[in-house]
Amino acid sequence: RIIHLDGAFVPAADARVSVMDRGFLFADGIYEVSAVLDGRLVDNDAHLARLDRSLEAIGIPNPHTPADWARLQLELVRRNGLVEGVVYIQVTRGAAERDFAPAPDLAPTVVMFTQAKTIVDAPVQARGARVVTRPDLRWARRDIKSVGLLAQVMAKREAAAAGASEVFMVEDGLVTEGGSSTAFIITSQGAVVTRPLSNAVLPGITRLAVMRLAADEGLTLEERAIRVDETYEAEEVFFTSASNFVVPVVSIDGRNIGDGCPGPRTKRLMALYVGLARAGTGS
Ligand code: PMP
Repeated sequence: RIIHLDGAFVPAADARVSVMDRGFLFADGIYEVSAVLDGRLVDNDAHLARLDRSLEAIGIPNPHTPADWARLQLELVRRNGLVEGVVYIQVTRGAAERDFAPAPDLAPTVVMFTQAKTIVDAPVQARGARVVTRPDLRWARRDIKSVGLLAQVMAKREAAAAGASEVFMVEDGLVTEGGSSTAFIITSQGAVVTRPLSNAVLPGITRLAVMRLAADEGLTLEERAIRVDETYEAEEVFFTSASNFVVPVVSIDGRNIGDGCPGPRTKRLMALYVGLARAGTGS
């Protein structure tokens, strides 16, 4: 396996980062994940725009232009022979003597690796995902794709212990988002509902693409917060992410959604998204 580290392509065993790296000591860094399908990046321009936004928000200079990022990502995809999966990018503020306040001139640490993964024909597509709800214990800037993910790790451990593959995080009785995804419901009136963008959620790249597809399908879109009890009663529930596309949810907190099988509109949105991804919108 080949890793990209600070401008070089190296075998995984040689990819070393300092223990004084601020990513390690403070979670002082951000990340981004783009899907790869048929060896091509999916909706990558939007992911690189969000990467830039996350860096800007925490004051780390973006080490590359979008064109350079894409070149490096594709080179890594090629070197690892990746056909389907993801490219992970992480940028931290860099290594320095431990001090909460960072020196202004640190050299960012850039790490990139690929992960092979079946997305389109993943078993969860046919089976559907079981979801549990948990309190959203995260901080107030969830719009930044920070590597500080302890709250999600805790929630995902609880989900796994409960036999679920995703967690919907809840604040004030309202779903914020999935542990690593954007939550959607389709109401009995046929409206596709997801929470509006704010500091409370990550602006999902797949979210936006799926909202556009739903609108093209003539479905009504509602951007508003979703109550937990609404999810139990919804016609269909699904979640979106770069690494899973559109995933049907078949139960929440042990209650079946609809008849407990993946819903037809969700399947249709997944098929449309796969079509879009194969058509190659990104690089
Ligand atoms: N919300 C959170 C908290 C996430 O971790 C993710 C996955 N990165 C998403 C939403 C979905 O975003 P995207 O569609 O850009 O992968």
